Amino acid sequence: MAYTVLARKYRSQTFDDVIGQDPIAQTLKNAIKTGRVAHAYLFAGTRGVGKTTMARILAKSLNCLTVDAPTTQPCCKCDSCVAVNLGEDIDVIEIDGATNNGVEQVRELRQNAIYRPARCRFKIYIIDEVHMLTVPAFNALLKILEEPPSHVKFIFATTEPNKVIPTIQSRCQRFDFSNINASLIAGQLKSILEQEKIKYEDDLILPLAKMANGSMRDGLSLLDRLISTGVEPLSSQLLEEYLGCPNSEKIYNLIAKIGDSDAAGTLAATENLISTGLSEVQLVDALIDYMRDLMVAKSAGADSELLILTAEQRERTSQLSEKFDTAALVYSITTLEKLRWSIKNSDTPRALLEALLLRFALSEHFLNVDELLSQLQGNSPAPIKKKPAPESVSPEPSRSEPRASSISTGRLSAEHPASSIEPRATSDGRKVASDEQPQPKPPIKEVKTSSRRKNQILNDPAVKTVILGLDATITGIEEN
Ligand SMILES: [Zn+2]
Repeated sequence: MAYTVLARKYRSQTFDDVIGQDPIAQTLKNAIKTGRVAHAYLFAGTRGVGKTTMARILAKSLNCLTVDAPTTQPCCKCDSCVAVNLGEDIDVIEIDGATNNGVEQVRELRQNAIYRPARCRFKIYIIDEVHMLTVPAFNALLKILEEPPSHVKFIFATTEPNKVIPTIQSRCQRFDFSNINASLIAGQLKSILEQEKIKYEDDLILPLAKMANGSMRDGLSLLDRLISTGVEPLSSQLLEEYLGCPNSEKIYNLIAKIGDSDAAGTLAATENLISTGLSEVQLVDALIDYMRDLMVAKSAGADSELLILTAEQRERTSQLSEKFDTAALVYSITTLEKLRWSIKNSDTPRALLEALLLRFALSEHFLNVDELLSQLQGNSPAPIKKKPAPESVSPEPSRSEPRASSISTGRLSAEHPASSIEPRATSDGRKVASDEQPQPKPPIKEVKTSSRRKNQILNDPAVKTVILGLDATITGIEEN
């Protein structure tokens, strides 16, 4: 027997089975109960979120032969229901708007629509990807939408509602299908695996559901691909091998290295991921995903419902989030998102990715200005202490416009248009305790710095770090 893909085999059959689109199912049920079914509907939403499924359920409800009037509970067994399920009913006509997009096809539709349905109450046209119609085709469609025969209903589905001309939209009742929550997808995957009696490991479900990106159909077709490997039990390791889903252990390790400001470790962990065949874009996606979890754990708590994680993952995420602060995570996510676009068009995606990750790993040096200052002033002979989280990373410093921050010490000054931070001042501009009493500023006089001395200063590792960290430019060197 031929293998039926899961998305078809487990397609929701009634309004009550529909997953993740409850408000729409409820509204349509009410319309049927009160006899206020519209002539035309526009179902908008990304692919695989249940638009066609909902259209078929509505068609079955309107045309089910076991009852005398439209019902909210179609039988799913009568000739009409069965034919609609297969997309082969004579009165429920499914049209692919992408291939039947010309004016001729719409004219033909109009001529046929005049005739009464063959056996059911309504003649229902389901036009998928309706935005693909040409403008003349839309105009032809508009003619019948303006005065539809009472036995005709239209259900238009589209992934790009903005391309459906306004005159069509205004004649439709529009429903926007939301992306399906990963926990709902996870529940469905689990239920299907159990019904199919396929062995699986628990740690497979959530990463698989997340990979589906809000589309039930995608989730099920990913599961189809895993099942087709013939390997059992299905596991997250299999997911990694066959579908390129990065091992969460390795991603966790990479983020931990960034959190520890371990530059060498960050590069090694990146190599570890890329050597598994993961592309740079996939790695960026995985990082964004994980950093988002950390951000949520940090700001809403690790037990938040906004996190789709197992108990063990929650614990781990909570621990890892200690190494970061919210601002740093926000900054990382937005910067990674920007990088995602640039590496797609880059010949050297790996170098760009590594550079950014190193920047994250070293980001504490952006902020640890106090310690750097005291080091520069010789107050602290200790090496820069690793602090877990930058305290005041700006969410969106643009890379093209260097961050205009600066420090001014006895030895080094960099321009800062807004404010100049005094020696021994904290990074937020407040003076430290010992400077509570205003003290006369020691006069800084410009002296000619020898080039040997200049090089010595510029090569000072602490100075280098500040320059790197702040994206600063040295505009002059002054000595007390
Ligand atoms: Zn029926």
